[in-house]
Amino acid sequence: MSRTQLEAFFLSIGEKKFRAAQLMKWMHHEGCDDFAAMTNLSKALREKLARLAEVRGPSVVYEGASRDGTRKWVLEVEDGSYVETVLIPADNGKRRTLCVSSQVGCSLDCSFCSTGKQGFQRNLTAAEIIGQVWVASRSDVPRNDSRQRPVTNVVMMGMGEPLLNYDNVVPAMQLMLEDDGYGLSKRRVTLSTSGVVPKIDRLSDDIDVSLAISLHAANDELRNELVPLNRKYNIATLLDACRRYLDKSPENRQVTIEYTLISGVNDQQEHATELAQVLEGLPCKINLIPFNPFPHSGYETPSRNQCVRFQRWLDELGYTAPIRMARGDDIDAACGQLVGRVKDRTKRQARYIQSVQLDAN
Ligand code: SAH
Ligand code: SF4
Repeated sequence: MSRTQLEAFFLSIGEKKFRAAQLMKWMHHEGCDDFAAMTNLSKALREKLARLAEVRGPSVVYEGASRDGTRKWVLEVEDGSYVETVLIPADNGKRRTLCVSSQVGCSLDCSFCSTGKQGFQRNLTAAEIIGQVWVASRSDVPRNDSRQRPVTNVVMMGMGEPLLNYDNVVPAMQLMLEDDGYGLSKRRVTLSTSGVVPKIDRLSDDIDVSLAISLHAANDELRNELVPLNRKYNIATLLDACRRYLDKSPENRQVTIEYTLISGVNDQQEHATELAQVLEGLPCKINLIPFNPFPHSGYETPSRNQCVRFQRWLDELGYTAPIRMARGDDIDAACGQLVGRVKDRTKRQARYIQSVQLDAN
């Protein structure tokens, strides 16, 4: 529940509104799910809450720790579907970024993404989205100092397209930002989208968070192939939406451009030149992500040398672009490797499995 919903709930049971803030602190700061332990509420209120409500996160069906410190949780949500969330430590333990899922599966079918290959099952509820932050925040992740929070940053870069689940993603992000929620600054909460243009426009009216765009190609022909949504909202339309986003939320000084490097597909010098051309004038930083392989994707990861060459070409054109190394790949936690489990297999997944079987024969 958002703060407004919780306040309405307390009023509806004959209690004062400010109880909402108290309960939020117990849930989100302390990770508490037991009303009996909420000692600044009267005993009568605690008993009343226990009768009427419950605090329950998604249940953890698997928790993995990678050699590099990355953690992954597989969570079972309401209808038995599985979603995945990943915590990535960085900066010598100063930063721990949680990669949060917004949907079970994804309908957009980007050709290089394993989530896309499994088809779409359903949107996560706001509770299931914030529940991922709740689970990670209650965990015993190693920290330099126990007063540090387990989660310092959130990126909506797990499974699913967050802007196609707008009505649940925005309230969940609101709780990430609120002081009585997770108290993260807007710079530390990032929404990543493959380019749902009308929703980018709406987003800046509703919430102020950082924006990342999954571009991956700088010409429409190639992007149509990699990110089929490009056929609906092409590169020029998408980058215009980014400019409007930045205009409306001046504190977000730049957007992040995500560029997955795929061997022989978008990693040549002409691609770097084209990329610099289309981004001209847009305040942005580029992140290069070497393609993370998954079985039967049909794509290959460029060599380390090729990634560095691409980086150098961009550098010569005036763009500093860090190469984001795969993290947690030994526990299948790297970008594009999150699969979860979709119960109701879609036609697309059936087709994919069929083509994989043909390949294998
Ligand atoms: N649907 C959103 C957010 C989830 S995907 C989006 O597409 O932006 C998070 C990031 O991982 C995106 O930039 C996506 O393009 C990238 N990604 C997907 N599959 C990948 C793979 N196999 N290797 C590397 N990056 C991948
Ligand atoms: Fe969906 Fe993002 Fe994967 Fe594309 S890259 S299929 S939008 S999750």
